[in-house]
Amino acid sequence: MLQDISHGRLDNQYHPCFPKDGDFVVCVKGKDILLRRDEEGLLHLPTWGEVSKWSEKWNPWFEEKTAFAFSMQDKDHFLYMGEAGDPEDGYVYEAAATLRDLRSKDVCFACMTAWHIYCWYRANRYCGCCGEKTAHDTRERMMRCPACGNMIFPRIAPAVIIGLVDGDRILMSQYANRSYKRYALLAGFIEIGETAEEAVAREVMEEVGLKVKNIRYYKSQPWGIAGNLSIGYFCDLDGSDEIHLDQNELSMAGWYSREDFPAEDDGISLTREMMRLFAEGKEPR
Ligand SMILES: [Zn+2]
Repeated sequence: MLQDISHGRLDNQYHPCFPKDGDFVVCVKGKDILLRRDEEGLLHLPTWGEVSKWSEKWNPWFEEKTAFAFSMQDKDHFLYMGEAGDPEDGYVYEAAATLRDLRSKDVCFACMTAWHIYCWYRANRYCGCCGEKTAHDTRERMMRCPACGNMIFPRIAPAVIIGLVDGDRILMSQYANRSYKRYALLAGFIEIGETAEEAVAREVMEEVGLKVKNIRYYKSQPWGIAGNLSIGYFCDLDGSDEIHLDQNELSMAGWYSREDFPAEDDGISLTREMMRLFAEGKEPR
């Protein structure tokens, strides 16, 4: 999956420092991230040395608007929090939401994780309690309000992905009103006051009107582009298999046998991995 980076690992310990020339910078413009594709189509983030050259034209306060994000593959990654301008040297802006290139998995995972942090910083520039401008804490990843002492920690929204199984069949669906038109497993956010398992049972009842039993955890995945932690569960149908579709959420849902659908694991998402596992008859029982 996307977070299984090829070597080294994501080290998200917060240690703010000044960027070095070879460190990477994630520059955001609207919903896009600045990247370069080499002759083989592999993605690269700009280095601090490269971005520093362009920054004079972008913003005179460039350095103050750059924040430490994390380390990956022993390289520090930074976020440029200002409005990025025109780049040079073959860099272009690419839509953050579509960065799922398996061959550049490390860069895509870095972008997705940086995007999550960027969105959290951007949404918390002012204190939600008193309205004062917040400041980065120096010791941990936190925004602190100098006026009222409010401490704002990163926000992660937990969501469940549900492999609902009935013997040799699995329930698949398509979202209503979304550009994503491929088959997906049922999914939804965990509500306040609810366990992940309760969320599984509630989402299945709400979206397709079915009961479940034997809810079992499979795996989780950080999905920074939506600010989520996706938590994958398999469960078994309990009782009737007659689907009552919530048409606000889904355009279709149906039962599919192991042979009925291509197990197109994209190597990126937990949903696709769970679908492949079922197609191969290897889902946890
Ligand atoms: Zn405050």
